[in-house]
Amino acid sequence: MPMPQSTVTPKRSNATPSGLEREESQLWRWALGLIVLLAVTVAYFSWEQLKDLPYRLWAVPAGIFLLSFLFAAYAFGRKREVSDLRQLLRGLEERSSIAPTEEQLDQLGQLISRSQRNFKELIDSLDDVALAVSLDGSLRTVNKRVTEMLATPYSTLIGHKLADFLGGPLVTETPFDLARFLEKRTWAGVVSVQLAGNSRRLYYDCVANAIVKGDDVVGASVLARNITDQRDKEQRFTQLFETLREGVYMCSPEGQLLEVNPALVAILGYASKEELLGLPPDALKVDANLEPVLGRAGSQSGRTRTREVRLRRKDGGIAVCQDVSTGVIEDGKVVRYQGTLVDITEKRVLERQLRQEEEFRRRLLESFPDLILVLNLKGQYTFVSPCIRELLGCDPEQLLGKAVDEADDNWSEIAKLYRSVAAGETSRASCEYAAQHRSGEWRTMLGIASPLLNAEAKPAGVIISVRDVTTEKKLERQIIQSERLAAMGQMIGGFAHELNNPLTSILGMSELLQEGPVSETTRKQATILHQQARRAAEIVQNLQFFARPPAPGHSQVDLNELVQRILHMQTYPLRKSNVTVDFQPEPTLPPMVVDPNQLMQVFLNLLLNAEQAIRETREKGTIRVRLGRNSDSVWIVFQDDGPGIAPENLTHIFDPFFTTKRPGRGTGLGLSICKAVLREHGGNIEVASAPGGGAVFTITLPLGASAGAAAG
Ligand code: ADP
Repeated sequence: MPMPQSTVTPKRSNATPSGLEREESQLWRWALGLIVLLAVTVAYFSWEQLKDLPYRLWAVPAGIFLLSFLFAAYAFGRKREVSDLRQLLRGLEERSSIAPTEEQLDQLGQLISRSQRNFKELIDSLDDVALAVSLDGSLRTVNKRVTEMLATPYSTLIGHKLADFLGGPLVTETPFDLARFLEKRTWAGVVSVQLAGNSRRLYYDCVANAIVKGDDVVGASVLARNITDQRDKEQRFTQLFETLREGVYMCSPEGQLLEVNPALVAILGYASKEELLGLPPDALKVDANLEPVLGRAGSQSGRTRTREVRLRRKDGGIAVCQDVSTGVIEDGKVVRYQGTLVDITEKRVLERQLRQEEEFRRRLLESFPDLILVLNLKGQYTFVSPCIRELLGCDPEQLLGKAVDEADDNWSEIAKLYRSVAAGETSRASCEYAAQHRSGEWRTMLGIASPLLNAEAKPAGVIISVRDVTTEKKLERQIIQSERLAAMGQMIGGFAHELNNPLTSILGMSELLQEGPVSETTRKQATILHQQARRAAEIVQNLQFFARPPAPGHSQVDLNELVQRILHMQTYPLRKSNVTVDFQPEPTLPPMVVDPNQLMQVFLNLLLNAEQAIRETREKGTIRVRLGRNSDSVWIVFQDDGPGIAPENLTHIFDPFFTTKRPGRGTGLGLSICKAVLREHGGNIEVASAPGGGAVFTITLPLGASAGAAAG
């Protein structure tokens, strides 16, 4: 705060006369005022009225008159005094030889001390620090503020150096050079001081003016204003500006940066603030076709705007930032923009990573063959993997959001699993259950439930995986059945072996009986006995053949004979079902090199299928078995007059596990094994509907498998 020079260093040449003139003119103003008051009073009251005034009120005009008279006398005296003084001063200034009178000197002394007192009161009343120092630094005068600040009486301070009363050195922020001050006679700057017993530094904005005596500078008057609070605020603000993690900027409407904080310098990868401020607005653009990123881009109104911006970094990379900025309006125009830039590049990268991970998880779940179900603690389905479409033919939406009890019967076992895990009874529960596909097909499912924990390892729901184990279950059953069959085969082999000996004896004895000297009746009986024993021996032989463990490799066989053996084996069950077999061997067939066991299995399977098909729908029926040959293959046909095969099943019957039989009756593996066996032999098996109803299975075997071809 600049201090008017005249108040601290009054110039002798004009200060006193102007003070006198002021006093003089003030006197005249008072006198004029009184005269006007008197005139107005007289004009208002006429003589007649005055005459009639009550005795008491006469005092008013009389008083005014008396006052005017007294004041005129006083003014006259003062005017004389003033003009005398003026003369005296002029004399002093002009160094006239006329010596002032004693009285004049007295008056001058009084005047000076009065104006000094006024001046002292004035500077004491100042809130600012005011002091005068001589060139050696000793205090010549100080105002009350200084005595209060230093907590030292005026008399102690005067004549001593200010530094003696401070707690530390006096520091000038703007360098103070004495030679320069003596030349310029003025200095302004900020000074910081530390008071004794107080660690806090105080800041003063100072103006110093030279005190001149003659032409020499003898000291300085200083007026100083305490700006410590302002400084503290500034410092706090600067600290905030410097330490903020968000970038802060000010820029012109054209996008030219005017001020930036260190955080923004770091975000954009520059070495210094100056380097960044020196850039043209276009340097921050990511795309040359765009307008400058900061400044009026996006909004010209100056209202606060929040947007995502992409800024070019020094290294060429891109910083994605959230810009919150406002226009500063002066005279109705936006003169600059100021705002903050929060670097969200990493956040965006993380978000992208998160999205990718999410996508990865989604794809993983989609490709997972098991159905994944997630239920919250309220028992609602919160996640259903898309695999449900394939597994049960329904959409995840049909289940999502539904309560566990609301879902249909297909889910009743899942509801039980959920309850047992959600109730904390077990940490892992599983069950096997039958569920129906939308197509009507029944499937065996294995459900496994376990608790779903949240980030704090507290239960947040239940996660259930459901696997279609239909195939595994069928295989399991098939293995059990195969094992049982193998055991039976072994048993049959054993029985057949045991039966062979008694049968050989019966055959021998019955033959002897036939040939011996017996009656005709006995011979006939012996013949029947012999025939039946032979039949039994054949059956035993066939059983032995079938039950024998398959010989590795192929052997040369007559296909007619193989068919015959199977028919023999099945004579009884076929007869029981009222099924007649119409078989005509084909003597022209060449012997074939095949695996006889495997082919017998094929024939047996076809025979049993046909017999079952007839038995389930008819009282009786016929199976026609024919063999024949082409130029390059032999064929065997099994044709029955049963119900036949539905056209929609024709393409599936060779698929493993395809069956139309009741559970426990069929495995659906028979025909698929037949197909596999024939493929292995280089042949094939096909199905068709018989012309008059029923099914026709045609087996073909390449002649390459014949003994002649093998030999050739
Ligand atoms: P399975 O006999 O255990 O069902 P298969 O593979 O032997 O298994 O047979 C598959 C299906 O083919 C049977 O379930 C049946 O529907 C059909 N099938 C096979 N042979 C005949 C036939 N001769 N007449 C009618 N249907 C048949």
